Amino acid sequence: MVPIMNILTAHCNPVLPTEGLAGCFIDGEWQAPASGKQLTVENPSRRSTLAEVGRGGTEEVDQAVSAASRAFSAWRVLAARERGKPLLALAERIAEHTEDIARLLAAETGNALRTQARPEVMGTAEVLRYYGGAIAEQKGETLPLGPGIFSYSTREPHGVVGAIIPWNAPLLLGAMKLSMALATGNTLVLKPAEDAPLAVIRMTELAADLFPAGVFNLVTGVGEEAGAALARHPLVSKTSFTGSSEVGKLVAHAAADRIANVTLELGGKSPIIVYPDAASEDLRENTVDGIVAAMRFSRQGQSCTAGSRLFLHRDAWDRVMPRLAEKVGAMKMGDALDEANDIGAIINAERYTAVRDYVVEAIEQGAEVIVGGAPLPTEEVAGYFPPATILAGLDNTWRIAREEVFGPVLVAIPWSDEDDVLDWANDTHYGLAGYVFTPDVSTIMRVTQRLDAGWLQVNQGAGQIPGMSYGGTKQSGIGSEFSIEGALEAYTYRKSVTIGLGS
Ligand code: NAD
Repeated sequence: MVPIMNILTAHCNPVLPTEGLAGCFIDGEWQAPASGKQLTVENPSRRSTLAEVGRGGTEEVDQAVSAASRAFSAWRVLAARERGKPLLALAERIAEHTEDIARLLAAETGNALRTQARPEVMGTAEVLRYYGGAIAEQKGETLPLGPGIFSYSTREPHGVVGAIIPWNAPLLLGAMKLSMALATGNTLVLKPAEDAPLAVIRMTELAADLFPAGVFNLVTGVGEEAGAALARHPLVSKTSFTGSSEVGKLVAHAAADRIANVTLELGGKSPIIVYPDAASEDLRENTVDGIVAAMRFSRQGQSCTAGSRLFLHRDAWDRVMPRLAEKVGAMKMGDALDEANDIGAIINAERYTAVRDYVVEAIEQGAEVIVGGAPLPTEEVAGYFPPATILAGLDNTWRIAREEVFGPVLVAIPWSDEDDVLDWANDTHYGLAGYVFTPDVSTIMRVTQRLDAGWLQVNQGAGQIPGMSYGGTKQSGIGSEFSIEGALEAYTYRKSVTIGLGS
C-alpha cells in the first residue's frame, strides 16, 4: 500500500515565491523587467508550467551592476566576520524552510525530493555556515624584507562579481557564489539558469533584508540575453561561471576582452576504475554502491562529477556487473516530488532528446544494453524519464564515451593492463573528477598520482563537503570552490604595502 504521505507529496504543488516572481532583485527591491517579458518555468516530471518569472535583460543587468558597484565601497570595509554574519543568518532561515524549498527545487529541477533536493537544501545551509565562520581567516602576511622596511599584504576583494549558474544544483551553487563573493568583500549580481530559477529566488527573498541594498542582486533571464550582458559588463571585475564548457569559453572570451578575473567550473567525463581486489566478497557491495553513487544515477546523471565511464577489470566483470545491473535496474524513477522515487526527471525536452540520441546512436553502432535502453521519443512521454542505462560492447573512442551525455547513462569498458586503463582514463579534454576502487594502498597512491582530475575519490562516490578545494583541470575549469583557500584565491587579490621606516 502507498503511504498517505507519499500520495500527498506526489500530488501537491510546491509553494511558489511571491514578490520574487518579478525576477529581478536590484538595489534591495524586487522589480519586473522593463520589457515586460516572462520566462516560463516547467516542471519536467509533469511537463506542466510551474511559474512565470520576469525575464531580465541588458537593462536590468546594467541596473544591477550599477547598484552593486555603488554598494561596494561600504561593504568592503566591514570586518570579515561582520560580512559573515548575514551568511550565518541566511543559513538558519534556509534550514527553517528546508521542506518548502526542497519541494520547489524538486519541482523545477526534476531532482528527486528524498535523494537529491532535500539534501541539496541541507547542504546549502552548510555552505553558508562554513563561509560565514571561515571568512575570519581572510588574513594577510607580514614580510621580512629587511631593516628599515615594514611590509605587509592584505587580501582585497575584486569589486563587482557577476556569477552565472546552471540548473542542476542551482540552490547550492547560488549559495556558493553568494558566500564566496560576499564574505570576501565583493558585491554580487547573480544570474540563475532559466530552467530553474525558483529556489534561488526563494533564497533571495529570505536574504532580502540581511544585506545592505545593492550588495546582493539577482537578475533572472536567459543565457544569451542576461547571461551574456553580465559576462561582458565593463563594471564586472570578476566573473564566476558554472556550466557547460561551450558556454564557459564564451564567458572566458568576454572576460579576456577587459582582463577581468574569471573562475570556471565546467563539464566532465569522469572515469571510474575498478580493480579485481575491489570485487572480493567483502568489498563487492561497497564497490557496486560506490559506482551507483559516483555515476550520480539518482541525479539522472546530471552532475558535472558523474563517473560516466566505468573501466571494470576483466577479472572483476562477472562479479560486479550482474549486481550493478540489478541495483541500477531496481532504482525507482518517477515524479521528483514523490518521496518513493530514487531518480527524478531530466531537466527539459531538449536535454531529454539529446540523451535519447546518444543512446540510440550507440545501440545502432552495436552497443550491448546491460540494463535500461533507449528512452521513448519526447512526444510519447508525460515526463522526461529516460531509463537508467548501462551500455557495454564499446570502447573509449565512441562518441558516447567521449562527450558529456548528462543523463543516466553509464558506459562500461573492460581492461586488463594498468597502463592502458590510465591512458584511456586520461584520454579526454575533461579533468574534473575520478574514482578508483581498490583496497591496495600502493595502487591507490600510484593511480591517483597519474590520473588527470581536480578531485579523486577512492572506494566511494560521495558529494562535495565544505572545506575541500574542488575544481577541475584541462577544459573542466579554472579555479576552485568549496574551501576558504579557494574563495580567497578566486575572489580576492593580494595587495602588498611596503613602508620605509626612515633611517
Ligand atoms: P549552460 O552552460 O548551458 O548554462 C549555464 C548558465 O549559463 C545558465 O545560467 C545559462 O543561462 C547561462 N548561459 C547560457 N548561454 C550563455 C551565454 N552566451 N553567455 C552567458 N551565459 C550564458 O549549462 P547547463 O546546461 O545549465 O548546465 C550543465 C553544465 O554545467 C554541464 O556541462 C555540467 O557539467 C556543468 N556543471 C559544472 C559544475 C562544476 O562544478 N564543474 C557544476 C554543475 C554543472
